[in-house]
Amino acid sequence: MEGDTIAAISTPVGEGAISIVRLSGPQAISIANRIFSGKDLAAVDSHTLHYGKIVEAETDDLIDEVIVSVMRAPKTFTTEDIVEINGHGGMVAVKKLLQVVLDEGARLAEPGEFTKRAFLNGRIDLSQAEAVMDIISSQTNEAMQVAVNQLEGRLSKLIGSLRQHLIEIIAHVEVNIDYPEYDDVEEMSHDMMEEKTALVLEEIEDLLQVAQQGKILREGITTAIIGRPNVGKSSLLNALVQEERAIVTDIAGTTRDVIEEYVNVRGIPLRLMDTAGIRETEDLVEKIGVERSRQILETADLTLFMLNNNDSLTDDDRKIFQMLEQLPYIIIINKTDLDTKLDIDEVKQLAKGNQIVSTSLKNDAGIADLEKAIAHLFFEDKLVNRDTIYISNVRHIHLLKQSKAALEDARDGLAMHMPLDIVQIDVRRTWEFLGEIIGDTASESLIDQLFSQFCLGK
Ligand code: GDP
Repeated sequence: MEGDTIAAISTPVGEGAISIVRLSGPQAISIANRIFSGKDLAAVDSHTLHYGKIVEAETDDLIDEVIVSVMRAPKTFTTEDIVEINGHGGMVAVKKLLQVVLDEGARLAEPGEFTKRAFLNGRIDLSQAEAVMDIISSQTNEAMQVAVNQLEGRLSKLIGSLRQHLIEIIAHVEVNIDYPEYDDVEEMSHDMMEEKTALVLEEIEDLLQVAQQGKILREGITTAIIGRPNVGKSSLLNALVQEERAIVTDIAGTTRDVIEEYVNVRGIPLRLMDTAGIRETEDLVEKIGVERSRQILETADLTLFMLNNNDSLTDDDRKIFQMLEQLPYIIIINKTDLDTKLDIDEVKQLAKGNQIVSTSLKNDAGIADLEKAIAHLFFEDKLVNRDTIYISNVRHIHLLKQSKAALEDARDGLAMHMPLDIVQIDVRRTWEFLGEIIGDTASESLIDQLFSQFCLGK
């Protein structure tokens, strides 16, 4: 229901110095005022902080000592009145805070409902709302920068200008048809329409070209490390994770879970397939058969295939080379500190141009080369460019692909000299697909579904 006042705990549940209960809606200030002992919140200026106590209205029980921030509509996140009650951290204290707020008539917010209100009230568009979620789940600085850019509205602006182009084409064609007597409006020719749609098509193609990279930044590269037993897979995993841990443990509050799931390689998050997965792929071919092995490898965005410099190739290794054909992989020749028994020429031949990196994990040598190879494979040595608009969201990529296909239909129609009002239908479809990205033409169920993925209190 619109117009009601929602509340939720907006900080992570657990022990901490401060927990925040946030309220948004027309009753936010009056509800807070009824349980707040201190200044009259109805009379204070907008965007101010106030010290006081939260007291249960009926029993007069003291709940917590707090700082309350009062932000009046419309210059707030949701564009509604917002009150944030900063209480002491701790699960019991913050739940009690929430409870008294709900007792006074606020409704518990659904996941993402604050952001949804910001969208429904027109403060941000859909792609910006999605960026909020991406910022929360970013695993690296670069991924976060992409999301921040999107929140700032850079993608929205670009999509907006492309749609503007398209609507001008549509309007032009319609004027020609509806008002053929208007001499002062130049008649849209096939060439002119072709030229104008080509511009938009080009922009969409540019966006899609870096989309793969955007998706990588956002979701990480699912990486499998495979090779025969004892070749050094666990050592590699440790080397990658250890370096990360050294960086990350300096920052208080970062959890081990995150570190173990993602490894940051030059700003690219590698999502290492879990150790169980890696163990499963040990002796891959022999244990689970060719077909199943291939399936595992196909789920990975990247396979690191390790060979032992101190051992000759086996038939299993050769089979793996076959399976990896057409898939993105890097070969690691480990144990270069030991005698070379591996037929390097044969490896080169089998690798068919894929990158080969030498390591001696025992001596911590070669990791930097490996990282370079990974960056080369996915970003062609280009650094993550903060100014590029990286489309990263699967939903956006899908809609852009549909837009591209519709514009290609338009182009083909023009080439076949179909009537412009028929071609125009494809242009209009493109306009609608692009509109879905920013939420202009998105359905209610899509919007509900998107926001339900948010965490509570956001
Ligand atoms: P996995 O079975 O593939 O996971 O291999 P491990 O990482 O457990 O390594 C097997 C053995 O090889 C361990 O005793 C490692 O210390 C050793 N090892 C790993 N990398 C190197 C290396 O570069 N040089 C040498 N000499 N030994 C290594």
